[in-house]
Amino acid sequence: MPPLELPTAFAASTALAPAELIAAPIRYPAPARLRRRLQVDGQKAAKAAESLGLLTLGDLLEHLPRDRRDARSVAELRPGETATVVVEVRSISARPVRRRGMRARVEAIVADASGATSVSFFGQPWLVDRYPPGTRLLLHVRVDERGRVSAQGHAPTAEPTGDTGAVAHYPTTEGLSSTQILALVRRHAAAFADVLEPLPAQVRVREHLADRPAALSAAHFPARDEDPESARRRLAFEELLLAQLALAQRRRRRSCGAAAPRIERPRELTARWLDHGLPFSLTGDQRAAIAAIDADLARSEPMHRLLMGEVGSGKTVVALYAMLRAVEHDLQAVLMAPTETLAEQHFATLQTLLGGEPVRVGLLTGSTPAARRRDLLGKLASGQLSLIVGTHALIEEQVRFDRLGVVVVDEQHRFGVAQRAALDAKGGGAGVDAGDGLGAWESPHVLHMTATPIPRTLALSHYGDLEFTLLRELPAGRRPIRTFVCSSEAERERAYERIREELRAGRQAFVVCPLVEESEALQVRAATAEFERLRRGPFADFRVVLLHGQMRPAAKAEAMAAFAGSGADVLVATSVIEVGIDVPRATVMLVEDADRYGISQLHQLRGRIGRGSDDSLCLLFGRRDAPRLQALARESDGFVLAEVDLRLRGEGELVGTRQSGLAQYRFAELPDDAELLERARRWCRQLLDADPDLAEPEHALLAEALSEHYGEQARAPIPA
Ligand code: ADP
Ligand code: MG
Repeated sequence: MPPLELPTAFAASTALAPAELIAAPIRYPAPARLRRRLQVDGQKAAKAAESLGLLTLGDLLEHLPRDRRDARSVAELRPGETATVVVEVRSISARPVRRRGMRARVEAIVADASGATSVSFFGQPWLVDRYPPGTRLLLHVRVDERGRVSAQGHAPTAEPTGDTGAVAHYPTTEGLSSTQILALVRRHAAAFADVLEPLPAQVRVREHLADRPAALSAAHFPARDEDPESARRRLAFEELLLAQLALAQRRRRRSCGAAAPRIERPRELTARWLDHGLPFSLTGDQRAAIAAIDADLARSEPMHRLLMGEVGSGKTVVALYAMLRAVEHDLQAVLMAPTETLAEQHFATLQTLLGGEPVRVGLLTGSTPAARRRDLLGKLASGQLSLIVGTHALIEEQVRFDRLGVVVVDEQHRFGVAQRAALDAKGGGAGVDAGDGLGAWESPHVLHMTATPIPRTLALSHYGDLEFTLLRELPAGRRPIRTFVCSSEAERERAYERIREELRAGRQAFVVCPLVEESEALQVRAATAEFERLRRGPFADFRVVLLHGQMRPAAKAEAMAAFAGSGADVLVATSVIEVGIDVPRATVMLVEDADRYGISQLHQLRGRIGRGSDDSLCLLFGRRDAPRLQALARESDGFVLAEVDLRLRGEGELVGTRQSGLAQYRFAELPDDAELLERARRWCRQLLDADPDLAEPEHALLAEALSEHYGEQARAPIPA
């Protein structure tokens, strides 16, 4: 019998292919394998992997390198550089510790095809046993000025020695080096074949996207003609598409869950109020917002609109309009604010804005006296009271509405999802058609408001389930605020003199004390000291009052009333004035240690001035070269500043987004990937228009990826 001959092609491939491919010559993707627990040698390294979120094989493959380093050959190593090499251990031994306090040192001779070098490992005597001669190592080394080589990171590898080119550099944590991660990924490289492609073919083809396994593999080990950045973008696109789909589905679930009253045509109350009740004419943006709200209210799908506008842009008028639309249809409306101060201010503003309209407004906060509260609750439950303003006190169990039709949530990011939902759940409809033209309904319409301008990328990625309306145009008569950065003592003297000039002319000034994040008590102490210093020194001839968060409510109210009623010239305050004060004669704001505040905080703070007919001045004390302060001096549009802020700080650091526990993306980088986000959003709409439940076979894997990421047992938190 002639000897059995292997087909040449097969023989050739056995000679070259890595061992794992031979073991399974035909291999179908087995995504379940990616869910297997990642085995990491060593307790410390295993812990570190866990803290990086690397629990499964799949997590490991999705842990992308941040950048690359050159892999060199040993002969190329030069003094003063760090580099990665793939070498074989020739000999290894522990060096004696000669002095107390000297670190244990292991010295090895390592080599690749180009040459050999001696390398020191510090503080790890066990390596003598772990890396016997013959071990192949992935080694990240530092070469000092005298040519001595020490190991910075190391891990055993199956790689052939002398493998040069770009080597991935991974985000790490204490206990697990980039080199170790690289070795792990290399060890599990066969698992790339288990990755499924969730993107429908038409999306991939039209967007010219690589498939997922190829993109992941290229992100770690790009071939010569592959670009790891385009691989990352491919993964980011998919991630953003999934997030948009999740938001769209949540939105749909919410509106399918319960219908809202169909509040169709405006009636006499709002018509009369707009024509005669308002002391001013609406801005174009306000009118557009009102039109959008009218369209929302006329549908049985509950409104979920986010009204964004800076302090002073006139959101309250728009909110009141939405509320009055409910009232004129015999429904109730509520406005919830995050603090008592704000609630009280809204209460006052609503009453002023209502003019002569015979609509009663209630106020319910934590400090509403018991008897008053009982009375309010009774009238809300019976439907006698149709408008109420308040704080969290409104979502308490005992608060019941008769027919709650419109909810307005001010500074919505300061409430948790659960708190907003609790108010939603108080919708007073019975779910049956009462023949009043509103249809069968049980859930209220909701208008969310925020004075923090959110850049479009963030808004889309985190609030993609809301509609947006922007109030950019400031009401007529608003004066620009000139902003200056002050650094020196000479400038301080001039600043005080300038403020005294304003005060002598009958105007008022804010002095904002530094933010002390670590301790409110410290902040209060600093503010109190500054107050004493100013009223004895620079402003000794004027009436100075103090306002901080630890004052009793009565004392706070007294200080605010004094300032608002011109009983005080200077208000020295901690950042509590960020929201809640409207004093048209206040024309100057001085902020101490302004660098401690964020851009949006400072912008909000200075929104407290520029509210009257006089020019206003904002003086920011801090480093002149601080990019944030410069941005504030240059820009007055809050939306532009929000973009700057996003660029300077990165996503997730913005005030109001971090607290809300927003999902962070693994691959996407906002705002840089804004264009990808827009494309993902378009595809999201297109896919759902054609196949709302993603039930078609070509969407099956997409639907599966969606439920894996955002489903019941989702690993990613749902964007707020
Ligand atoms: P926001 O809530 O957005 O901070 P407000 O609704 O409290 O702003 O409005 C700030 C001030 O501007 C209020 O005194 C309000 O009466 C006034 N205002 C609102 N809209 C207009 C307008 N179109 N023209 C003139 N003044 C306006
Ligand atoms: Mg307001």
